[in-house]
Amino acid sequence: MTASRGLLAVIAGPSGVGKGTVHGRARAWLPESVLSVSVTTRAPRPGEVDGVDYHFISPERFQELVDQDQLLEWAEYDGERYGTPRAPVEEAVAAGRIVVLDIELQGALQVKEHDPAALLVLLVPPSFEELERRLRARGTEPEAALQRRLARAREELSAAHRFDVEVVNDDLDHCVEEVLAAIERARASAQAASDRTGDHPSGLA
Ligand code: 5GP
Repeated sequence: MTASRGLLAVIAGPSGVGKGTVHGRARAWLPESVLSVSVTTRAPRPGEVDGVDYHFISPERFQELVDQDQLLEWAEYDGERYGTPRAPVEEAVAAGRIVVLDIELQGALQVKEHDPAALLVLLVPPSFEELERRLRARGTEPEAALQRRLARAREELSAAHRFDVEVVNDDLDHCVEEVLAAIERARASAQAASDRTGDHPSGLA
């Protein structure tokens, strides 16, 4: 019998690129995937539910989680902190499940450092102008915050070379297909690696 290891897949990309939508659609096609609910110090937006969209916590509680090494990764974004609780992700991957994270650039790079087998997908907009249009249409941030998100977006897009795959979110169906195909490929290669280990536990190939 061979151990079946799961996969950690990160969907990163600038605010407004459609990560949430792509993430939701991709997960619907991956019944064996597990949702990771991040912790954040930012306030809930109207309609967001604690424990579903995020665990909304105080800065003090966030610091405790950092100090206790309970976060797999964390980053600051627009003056607030966001992080991925470590235990549920590690347990799910060890159990052979796929965990898809919707996080920003710094967190994505930390995940790769921690787990080189993780798949990093960068979602990019068809153009910067289109990204700005989408962010404005979403209307969730006042102008100053929107400008900060756009500045951060330029940084994130310039880090494309640090990612395994870059997918343009132009046509949503096509984008989701490409993300799923990348996850399938990463999964197959993780499985092949774990089969090799299983076949030759002593390392004698
Ligand atoms: P928002 O405030 O729009 O919900 O999220 C702001 C940014 O934080 C987005 O790019 C989102 O992907 C990212 N984010 C959400 N959760 C996490 C997390 O757990 N870790 C990191 N590093 N980024 C996160």
